[in-house]
Amino acid sequence: MADVRAERIAQFVSPLRVRPGTEVRLPDDFDPAYKAGISKKKDGVELLRGGIELLADYQQRLAAQDVYGVLVCLQALDAGGKDGTIRHVMSGVNPQGVRVASFKVPSEEELDHDYLWRYSRHLPRRGEIGIFNRSHYEEVLVVRVHPENLRRQKLPGAARGPDVWERRYREINDWERYLTDNGFRVVKLFLNLSKEEQRVRFLKRIDVPERNWKFSPADVRERARWDDYQRAFSQMLSATSTEWAPWYVIPADRKWFARLCAAAVLVHTLIDIDPQYPQVSEQTRRELAEIRKDLAGPEEKTKKKNKNDKNKKNKP
Ligand code: AMP
Ligand code: MG
Repeated sequence: MADVRAERIAQFVSPLRVRPGTEVRLPDDFDPAYKAGISKKKDGVELLRGGIELLADYQQRLAAQDVYGVLVCLQALDAGGKDGTIRHVMSGVNPQGVRVASFKVPSEEELDHDYLWRYSRHLPRRGEIGIFNRSHYEEVLVVRVHPENLRRQKLPGAARGPDVWERRYREINDWERYLTDNGFRVVKLFLNLSKEEQRVRFLKRIDVPERNWKFSPADVRERARWDDYQRAFSQMLSATSTEWAPWYVIPADRKWFARLCAAAVLVHTLIDIDPQYPQVSEQTRRELAEIRKDLAGPEEKTKKKNKNDKNKKNKP
């Protein structure tokens, strides 16, 4: 039964995965409106509920063992739904086992270090799920689309040449390989939004007063660079989807479907890790049995006896 479910989840996430070594071209290769034949939102929401329960169970087991950790990297264009995905997908898990880090424009201190430094400071511990709301991939996205960001990074001349992006892809792949080899799985989700749906969401952020705070005029300036971002995302997906840390392209035009996909990919990864509650040794088990006897004491015996007597009395 459990295997059937694991197989179903594997099949569900398979079309979202970027096969390592393939060349991705957005927007042609992945449809932001794909919904895997689930016609009703109600059905999707129901499936998500099941996914969240599964996730809670696996997270508990992950937290109990002390070997593996999981890093989830969330990337999207503005209004892609990163915040809502985190809020919904993680709604069932124990907050003690999760840490979220959001990455903004780097500070002076961060610029005084190598570009991966600030990301490595927020990596999860063993047993934890770490979520990067934006991630080290900004270093080949916003930094690439706006080269002034690269100029601020104080790099030596040789590290600023035209091969900088190819080199960063390699360095990022190596870093993720290193993390994976040492027990940390890297789950990479790109929330793939259409230009039209972004327009609709921006309008809502302007029209609904409670959403005004989410809108920044800078978002519209970024939207003007839409094609440059699609190109940067395409090259990033092609170069950094690896056997050890593949990218998943999440159709993001429907929020409920994006959340379902994100939960499914995360559960799929946890099923693969298959974290187990630690087993105690025979010796410890014997010690526990001894301690239990003491703790239970004469009271438990008396209680049991009273209960038996009562049961006997009540019998006709
Ligand atoms: P938000 O996620 O809406 O709060 O915005 C954070 C902003 O920080 C976005 O405009 C990102 O593009 C920007 N940002 C994140 N990482 C970097 C980076 N490494 N270099 C420059 N800008 C960045
Ligand atoms: Mg923003």
